[in-house]
Amino acid sequence: MNVRTNLLDFDRDGLRAFFAGLGEKPYRADQVMKWIYHRLESDFGAMTDLGKSLREKLPEVAVIAPPRPLLDKASSDGTRKWLLGMDAGNAVETVYIPEPTRGTLCVSSQIGCGLNCRFCSTGTQGFNRNLATSEIIGQVWHAAKQLGNVTHRQRRITNVVMMGMGEPLLNFDNVVRAMSLMRDDLGFGLASKRVTLSTAGVVPMIDKLGEVADVSLAVSLHAPNDELRTQLVPLNKRWGIDELLDACARYAAHKPRSTITFEYTLMKGVNDTPVLAKQLVKRMRRLPGKVNLIPFNPFPGTQYERSDETAIRAFQTILLDAGVQTMVRRTRGEDIDAACGQLKGKVADRTRRHAEFQRRVEAAAQPEVQAHAA
Ligand code: SAH
Repeated sequence: MNVRTNLLDFDRDGLRAFFAGLGEKPYRADQVMKWIYHRLESDFGAMTDLGKSLREKLPEVAVIAPPRPLLDKASSDGTRKWLLGMDAGNAVETVYIPEPTRGTLCVSSQIGCGLNCRFCSTGTQGFNRNLATSEIIGQVWHAAKQLGNVTHRQRRITNVVMMGMGEPLLNFDNVVRAMSLMRDDLGFGLASKRVTLSTAGVVPMIDKLGEVADVSLAVSLHAPNDELRTQLVPLNKRWGIDELLDACARYAAHKPRSTITFEYTLMKGVNDTPVLAKQLVKRMRRLPGKVNLIPFNPFPGTQYERSDETAIRAFQTILLDAGVQTMVRRTRGEDIDAACGQLKGKVADRTRRHAEFQRRVEAAAQPEVQAHAA
């Protein structure tokens, strides 16, 4: 069978090479990119400036195939969430968050996640596989098409954050290629500070990212000391906070004007005390970083609760008084489970983590059964 190539898998260089392989000039690739990413066209027949023979040849060897939409939900606050089918058993979620001066798209990088952070719903689901470049940039393409992202001046998607399902630095090549399409003038044309990759702290890949890509970095910190962070983010066992912050300092040194965002999800009685806020202040001294406080978003079966509003304010005040730029990320799209840490998609888990999680949830819901069994 003749398998057609999905053109969404190529960045600009890759697409030029593909056209060269067809015996075509490189500028043909540029024309096609404009059709795909500026005009959101997926039908070669409509690409009128390509010339008839190329227009007829392309559908035989290539497709422009974004992921398949399975569900489209709108929140009362304007947030939108799409469930996008990636293959027969799997789907991921993509979220659009409109604000008065910008529109942010939150994009997934993997089907599920292998990191198992205790407070993240995606983590309870287990992991299936990495997304292909086409499946990552295809989320942006689909959202842009749905939102009518027409002109460059009035675009609806002004920012992309790799903060959906998965750990983007563990799917390095595909994520970097997709981010290059987000940034390319022939792609979505976003400025480097408007494309953000968030990582739980895969230290060697932070260095590699600094070498190959020009994007903003966000780091999921969530605790100022190793003991607590290891409980919340098991990856911390492999690379502790000192190593992580050293890598952040190196990343920042590469990009003089950039600031790194540190995400800190506030959980009641877990990581929201004034003592911890002061520890965090000390950690922030050596870096050009700002802190993004995220009130914990609950999901079924979680043991954690959101910090009280007073605790959130007090935590923020300690940081601000010490001169650390600190924002509270307002929860959006909660009514459609589209807030940070609530993305689930549909993951054919290969780690058995989902089954384990279900067992834990059931045991917690029926303590007497557990007591009898013991
Ligand atoms: N794996 C990457 C990308 C996910 S980003 C990373 O860890 O950075 C999603 C952000 O939301 C992360 O900072 C994550 O820690 C945070 N988060 C996860 N679960 C959450 C929850 N239940 N409530 C609030 N924030 C959460």
